[in-house]
Amino acid sequence: MLVGSERITPTRSKTVQLHIGIDDTDSRKGGCTTYIAARLVETIANLGTQFIDYPNIIRLNPNIPYKTRGNAAVALRVNVPIGTYDLVREEVLHEIEKNSELGRPGTDPAVVFVRGNPTSAIRRFSRRALWDVLHEDDAVRIIRSAGESALAYGTRLGLVGALAAVGQTLTGDHTFELVAYRTKSNCGTTRRVDEKSVKRMDRLTASKTFNNYDLENSRILITPHGPDPVLLGIRGETPSVLRKAFSIIRIYEPIERWVIFRTNHGTDAHFNAIPPSGPIEPDRPVILRGTVGDRPWRISGGHVFFTLHNQKGRWTCAAFEPTGNFRKTVANLIPGDRVTAYGAAKKNQTRQSLTINLEKIMIHRLVEKRQLENPRCPSCHKHMKSAGRDQSFRCRKCSITLPKSRKTLTTAARSVMLGLYVPALKAHRHLTKPLSRYGQEKTWDLRPPSGKWHNP
Ligand SMILES: [Zn+2]
Repeated sequence: MLVGSERITPTRSKTVQLHIGIDDTDSRKGGCTTYIAARLVETIANLGTQFIDYPNIIRLNPNIPYKTRGNAAVALRVNVPIGTYDLVREEVLHEIEKNSELGRPGTDPAVVFVRGNPTSAIRRFSRRALWDVLHEDDAVRIIRSAGESALAYGTRLGLVGALAAVGQTLTGDHTFELVAYRTKSNCGTTRRVDEKSVKRMDRLTASKTFNNYDLENSRILITPHGPDPVLLGIRGETPSVLRKAFSIIRIYEPIERWVIFRTNHGTDAHFNAIPPSGPIEPDRPVILRGTVGDRPWRISGGHVFFTLHNQKGRWTCAAFEPTGNFRKTVANLIPGDRVTAYGAAKKNQTRQSLTINLEKIMIHRLVEKRQLENPRCPSCHKHMKSAGRDQSFRCRKCSITLPKSRKTLTTAARSVMLGLYVPALKAHRHLTKPLSRYGQEKTWDLRPPSGKWHNP
């Protein structure tokens, strides 16, 4: 299905700026949108185009039920010689048709071509796509009114991500990811990446790369586990630290190609995009400041819950098992504590209410924890023993007895401190900002990448 029409703009310039957004070429069975982007980098560079940015991986609202967990789209931004514009478009379509999982259910690839800087309508759409659930008709309307063109295979669902990727030019905080791809014959086999070298790389590039290795569970985090063509992805603050990290890792299988992407990974972009006093609706990220209501409780499977309330309502917050030690923090909250919960609002099937799946928590205020204690013996000052339920207290050593009314109210130490808490690494979503990135946020003006950032 083709939407939009060709806009003929007379221009004196010999090149035209072109933004290409691609979404949803992958199914749950394999395939990978970034792989198509990586191939296209080479193909369209050979047509005389010049990249004005690294290829972008844009993660959108991670809570959309019908999308894969990552909800990723890619954008390529180039200056194209006027004469080769059609050729570039043809190459893009050819590459998508050749490498996406066309025909598989749930795979609805789409591509959007936008000439010149993305309009403010496109940028607004992109910002919303980070947190809201958008309809493909909205994407079609914006593409048409901007006079741009797009192509969707199957349903038009992929147009949302493709258009959103174009408009998300990452002028705010961003990170980089070096992605290396496997040869076709190796796809589906165990990835042969040396674990020790990954730990070494993690140590040597500390605080400039993130989510490399999970020490808590002794697990490599840079390699995915599916049959897709990605061998590994290293995330970090700059292209140069990624090249250094890549050179440290020992890999025992051929690498087909590698590319450095600029991305919103690890930036909390989904939380930052929520409008102030935005709606609290299912399948969207939420930020809720409030007071802990009920004492936290644990259910089988190790999940921990508590209730949070403020003037807008009352919610159940959940710290699931994979969040690891994060659950201990949550379990130590008590009624009256003041916190800000960051998470995903999900409809609770049984109770018809919303549960907030926690992605991080800020503890602002801790109330005093009061507890009743047995009295101390007036003679030896040790805690006395109760002689039984509703009985008096006794010190056997000193043979002293006190009435049961002598129980004392004391302040107990809290086993949690004020501050920000983030779940275990393995529970991080692509957009989750790891603790190591706080204070490293950056801005960026669109300018051509320099140095070596892709092969060959
Ligand atoms: Zn005593």
